[in-house]
Amino acid sequence: MASRKKFIESVGATCANWYWSWSFVNHQERFVIFGLWDVHKNGLILEKQWNGHGLNQSLEHIRLVQENGYTLKTFPIKYSQTDNGNPRIKGFDPILTDKLLVSVSGCWYAISDDIDVEEAIAEEVVNPEIFIEGATKNISVNAYERNPKARKECLEIYGYKCFVCHFDFKKTYGDIGLNFIHVHHEVALADIGQEYEVDPRNDLKPLCPNCHAIIHRIHPPIKVDDLKKNIKLLAR
Ligand SMILES: [Zn+2]
Ligand SMILES: [Zn+2]
Repeated sequence: MASRKKFIESVGATCANWYWSWSFVNHQERFVIFGLWDVHKNGLILEKQWNGHGLNQSLEHIRLVQENGYTLKTFPIKYSQTDNGNPRIKGFDPILTDKLLVSVSGCWYAISDDIDVEEAIAEEVVNPEIFIEGATKNISVNAYERNPKARKECLEIYGYKCFVCHFDFKKTYGDIGLNFIHVHHEVALADIGQEYEVDPRNDLKPLCPNCHAIIHRIHPPIKVDDLKKNIKLLAR
């Protein structure tokens, strides 16, 4: 790990212990650094459940970002495991990238400002046939129009109010808002096999475009229930 130490020191940052630290800080320039595992495509950098020597220090680093205005940077680390199954850093790239810190339900994510949310939403697929044909990259219309039955069943169960924030388009906009809502598909495309059949109660949720875009800000998307818990916490 000597070279990782060299890299971190070369950008003016330090830590409590070069062996077990998960994150680093530069107090002069007011930024913290987290390693970002290649296996965490959604930008996950810390979970409360990750027990280890590094946890308290990393929570303090998170606090510096959330409360003291420090910025967050990440560098890519490659995942492997030790013989007893603990995560081990196989390698890293000495490249720092500026990120935004997002916390949802005891997890912290480092996200980029430039994620194309519109594209993520447009690519959402409810119709397994479309997925199997491998056409997911080319879908530009709302794919639910192709599976009106699943969408209809979802809306019969949940109604046309946003499942997360309860926004009601008819109430706010009048008749022109009647029956307008996005329907979000919760199952990750990667989990959909040949046998997949959409479950309108568990896999689909009506969302307003605001909540829908926020859910897709992390990719793969965060869970609908986690976003719901998050806005409740903040509203208190
Ligand atoms: Zn909403
Ligand atoms: Zn969605």
